[in-house]
Amino acid sequence: MVVFSPGRTSSYPNESPEHGIRYHYLGGGDEVGNVGIVLEDQNGTRLLLDYGLAPTKPPRYPHEAPLIHDAVITHSHIDHLGMVPWLCGHYQTRLHGTHVTAALSDMMWHDCYKVSSIEKYPLSWDKRDIEIATESWYVHHFGESWHHHDWTLTLHSAGHIPGAAMLHIQTPEQSILITGDFDTRDSPLVAGAQPIEVDTLFVEGTYGGRSHESMEEEIQRFIASVEKVVARGGTVLIPAFANGRTQDVIMHLHKHLPHLDVHVDGMGKKIAKVHLEHDSYLRNASELEAAWRWAKQISSKTDKKKALSADVIVSTSGMLDGGPILWYLNRLKDDTRNALFFTGYQAKDTGGRRFLETGFVNIYGQDHKIRLESDRFNFSTHAGHQEILDFAKACKAKTVVVYHTDAENARPHLVEDLEAAGHTVHQPKNGISEILLPP
Ligand SMILES: [Zn+2]
Ligand SMILES: [Zn+2]
Repeated sequence: MVVFSPGRTSSYPNESPEHGIRYHYLGGGDEVGNVGIVLEDQNGTRLLLDYGLAPTKPPRYPHEAPLIHDAVITHSHIDHLGMVPWLCGHYQTRLHGTHVTAALSDMMWHDCYKVSSIEKYPLSWDKRDIEIATESWYVHHFGESWHHHDWTLTLHSAGHIPGAAMLHIQTPEQSILITGDFDTRDSPLVAGAQPIEVDTLFVEGTYGGRSHESMEEEIQRFIASVEKVVARGGTVLIPAFANGRTQDVIMHLHKHLPHLDVHVDGMGKKIAKVHLEHDSYLRNASELEAAWRWAKQISSKTDKKKALSADVIVSTSGMLDGGPILWYLNRLKDDTRNALFFTGYQAKDTGGRRFLETGFVNIYGQDHKIRLESDRFNFSTHAGHQEILDFAKACKAKTVVVYHTDAENARPHLVEDLEAAGHTVHQPKNGISEILLPP
């Protein structure tokens, strides 16, 4: 099924701007995820940053992209690259990103394709487009610049997940930094992002208005809770996102509870393998390697059955929507010594959110009341409110564009505090162009 109707679903203007740099959000301007930002100057130099879809039910798609020859993809989460196969299939777009992002992309696209087929959601690209996209990568190391007409582009580490990049654009007239998803705090997998002095900062505002608990305290609470369940003879089930969270959780468990019997299932296994093949992108490759050797990887039906008596099972899907986690939950749900611990955001209309609100989970078409102890832990690798303010200040940005944010509940808090700190703040809307004038 076609989602775009070319010429009718594009919100992008036909002419280049008269001066300055125009930015135009195809998606992600006033919402979380679904990102696509077109930047263009008066010479017609044009660049797209990210082209994702929001994996909600049904998914949200960004506006149709205009003709794009070059796109920078900040990282391998589906809300930043989910629509890239369409781009490459239609425009033979060149993709720029880090080695890890390129290496993980086709796994993410195939998974997205599979989920759409199962859920029967329309997708405007197919497996042939994945093949084209996979061949379209131009990879760049952090700190190594390249030229895009008279712009100089450089990727810098964004923290968040391995290979996640911020894009630094230097034009003859102005400098811009776009964070992508970022965190200035260290996580087990990656070190935090460092500021760069620029005229304009585009910053993600997922956590606007919310501050993170102390990471150390949250880890201690998690470890104590796992120990309690194991001590009473139960198994802890941990739904975790494959790309980043699964590895972070395994590393926490390995560091603090090495005596436990921990099993891991789902796509996170293949992703960890790719991480280890690109160890220069990791904060501490030998720690991931040791944790990965230690955790028991589930790869067969026999392994699955063995895992039922484990202390901890970490598996996808992170939002209890399909994936091996449901197989384990189905078998472990009736023994109340077991527990279900969430380690990530549970989006609206997902199995995880429904469980947290009603206690019910749909397993293979049947509703079950789950009576297991449950809890939520914040292992987010997005900058919190204060980290965002500190980062904008350290970048000395005159103008700050706040995107990838809930425009009603999160962004207003950031706008207020950023303005109070002396920044000029933009609040982009999808489909509306704005101009950044030279300072
Ligand atoms: Zn994102
Ligand atoms: Zn992300």
